This record gives sequence, structure tokens and C-alpha cells, in this order.
Amino acid sequence: MPRHTSALAIHGRLERREGTLLLVVDEPLSGHDTFLSTTLRLDQPCHLPELPVRIRPGRCRGRCRHQPLVAGRSLNPAAVRLVSLDVGYTLGEPSGMTLTQRLVELSPLPARQAKQIAQQLLHALDPRRDATAPQAVCAALGIATSAFPHDHSPPGFALWPGTVEAVARIARVVPVVTLSNVSHWDEQETDVAALLAPHLLAHHPSWQLGFAKPDARAVETVARIHGREPAEMLHVGDSLDYDIRGALAAGAHALWVTPRTPSTEALRLLAGHPGRVTVVPDLPRAVEHIEQITLPSTHMIRSSTP
Ligand SMILES: [Mg+2]
Repeated sequence: MPRHTSALAIHGRLERREGTLLLVVDEPLSGHDTFLSTTLRLDQPCHLPELPVRIRPGRCRGRCRHQPLVAGRSLNPAAVRLVSLDVGYTLGEPSGMTLTQRLVELSPLPARQAKQIAQQLLHALDPRRDATAPQAVCAALGIATSAFPHDHSPPGFALWPGTVEAVARIARVVPVVTLSNVSHWDEQETDVAALLAPHLLAHHPSWQLGFAKPDARAVETVARIHGREPAEMLHVGDSLDYDIRGALAAGAHALWVTPRTPSTEALRLLAGHPGRVTVVPDLPRAVEHIEQITLPSTHMIRSSTP
């Protein structure tokens, strides 16, 4: 039986039937099936990959076939009026060195510390508004101002196969924008909006916003630009530390796309924000989830149209 049922809002028991160990859940499932494989603490030894989780037809609430993990209460479908998508490693990946990587190599600071400082500064800097930005970055990293790599060539960026179709599907049910942590120097030649046209409402790189995730002001600013409250936003991304923490800090909902099993620390974070974080293994499942949570309102609109 799960010991942390209060955090999960699931009550159930293990039963052996015809030689098979079953997890029998005592209540209708709504948004917990992915969570089951990663979060349950069982009183008896059990090899989780062999633990069958079967969802009987008709047991889910509403119109959903089933939903992936939602920590605690299910997300209110009516709450999502705007979806923001992270870009790097959520929709595609860069090829080549970023300016951050070059600066970390130049800095005498420990690589981890230098990377953190470089990202914090670079991602929120707009050199068109602040001509002294390179000097400030160099000073923080212990690099001579003359060593700033003004000759930096931005890395290439390629969407993963299926990404355009995925964004198009999201755009059919809810307005969608991108919210990306990226420096001005690394984005010069990447036109994300063009890559995802005409499905994207807007592209919001952090260097233009002036704020980078997990700073709550990044999500808050995007919400304000589009006339929404953060609580009406669902941010989708691959990074717990940037995407998920940033969304939660702003009071938005989060959809964490990760193929890996969440760590204990991550599960603790999710349990602390019941109903606001959903975890899915890949972008297609993220799209399915967004379609499912927005379907009721979509259905109402269609029904009222002659
Ligand atoms: Mg990312």
C-alpha cells in the first residue's frame, strides 16, 4: 500500500491474482498513471517495471483516456489559456559551442560556478540596450575584457523530427509561445519563430525579456504580454531547475518533459506543489496531455458554433 497517499491523493493496495502482482487503486484515476511508476513507496518489495498498472475503461474522470502524472489534484482544464514552450532540448537541440561554453573555458573559476554565473548574466542581457554588458560578464567571470569572444559564431539549432507537427497540434487547442533561456550572442542566426511558423503566437528569448528562468519574472512577463495571469499559463520544458522551478515560482502550471525517472529531490518538489506539475516522457505525450486538458473547453466552443 502506498505510504505517501496524502501527497499523491491515491489510495490502493497490492494484490496477487492468478500469480500476478497487481496494484489495485481504490478510486478513479485522474492524472496519476505516470506518477505510479516513479513515486509509490510500497510496504513490500516490488520490482516496479514488472508492476502492472491497468486503467479500466470508464474509470477515468471526464473525457480523458488517461492522463500522465499530476502531483496531487488534477489541473483544472479551464485554467490553461496560454502554453509556453522551452526550446533547447524540448523542441530540438543546438550544434556547436555556445558563448557560455566559451566563457567557461576562459574563466579561472570552477567550471560549474562559471557556467552558473555566465548563464545568469548572459541570458538576461540585451547588448543593444546595454553596451557595457560584455565588460560586466568578463568582470564577473574573472576574464580580461579584451578576451570577450566578440567573434563568437552562434551554434546551429535544429528542431527534432515531429516538433512542428507537435506545436501545430497544441496551437489548435490553445495559443502557444516559446520561452527560451538563450543569450543574444547565441541566437543571432536562429529564427525559432520562423521554424515554427505559422503555429507560434510569439517567441520570447530571455535576452529580450530581460529575465531568464527560473526567475519568476520570465514567466510573469510573458503572461503579461499576452494579457494572462501566470496561473493561466502552462509552461512546458525539459529542465527541472529552469523550466519547472521557474513556472512554479511564477504561479504557473508546469509540464515536465523528461525521459528519466525523477529523483527523490524532484519528487519532493512535485509533492510540494499539488496539482501544478505534470510529468511526461516525451513531446508527443506532452501534446496529448495538453489536448486532453483543453478538450472540454474546445468541445464547448465547437458545440455552440452553428
Ligand atoms: Mg531546455
